[in-house]
Amino acid sequence: MRSHVWAHDYEVAKLGKPVDRTEWGMTPQTYNAYYNPSNNEIVLPAAIFIIPGLADSLADDAIIYGYAGASTIGHELTHGFDDQGRQFDEKGNLRNWWNSNDEMEFNKRAKLIVKQFDEFKVLDSLTVNGEATQGENIADLGGVVLGYEAFKKTEQYKSGKLINGMTPDQRYFLGYALSWLGHMRDETLAMRIMTDVHAPNFLRINGPLANIPEFHKAFNIKEGDPMFRPDSLRVNIW
Ligand SMILES: [Zn+2]
Repeated sequence: MRSHVWAHDYEVAKLGKPVDRTEWGMTPQTYNAYYNPSNNEIVLPAAIFIIPGLADSLADDAIIYGYAGASTIGHELTHGFDDQGRQFDEKGNLRNWWNSNDEMEFNKRAKLIVKQFDEFKVLDSLTVNGEATQGENIADLGGVVLGYEAFKKTEQYKSGKLINGMTPDQRYFLGYALSWLGHMRDETLAMRIMTDVHAPNFLRINGPLANIPEFHKAFNIKEGDPMFRPDSLRVNIW
C-alpha cells in the first residue's frame, strides 16, 4: 500500500510541469517493449533482446531479424501508424495530420484485418475480437514486413545458403514464430479473449504470416493448405 501511495504521489507531482521525455515506463530488465504515442517514442528494454532458451552465440541473422527485428522493433514502430498511433502528430499531440484520401485508404485496409481476426475461433466457441485487437494485429503485420525488409539487407539473406536444410526466408519466418512461443491454460486463454488487446499467441504468428506472399512462397503453401490465404483476402497496410 505504501508503494502505491508513493507511485501515486510521483505521478501527481508531474502535473503542470514540462514532460520529461527521457523517462521510461519500463526498466531495462523488463521483458517487454512499448510505443508511447504522447511522446512519439518507442522504448526497447535490454531484456527483450534475450531469446529465452537460446544462447546469443546460437542466434544468427534470420532468427534475430525475425525475433527482435519483426516482433519487437518493427512491431513498436508500426504502433505509431496503427489505428490509434496514427492519430498523434510528430510531437505526440492528438491532432489529425492525414489527408482524407490516405485516411480512407487506411480505414479500408484496416477493415480487412479486423475481419480476418473476427473470423478466428479459439476453444471451439470463442471468437477473437478483431476490433479490439486491431492495433496489435496491425503492429504485428507491419513488424513482420519491416523485419523482412531489414533482413533482405543482410549477407545471410543475399547468399541464400541453406542452414539445416532451410532457406533464409524459411528461417526468418521461423525466427518470428519463436517470438510468440508459449503455453496457456484454456481458462486463461478464455479470459484473455475477453480482456486482452493482443490476439492469442499462436494467432499473432498465423494471422500476420498468412497475409504475406513471401511466406507462401517460402513454404510452398498452396490452396487447401491450412495457412493458405487467397491474394484477394491478404491484408497489406504498410
Ligand atoms: Zn503492441
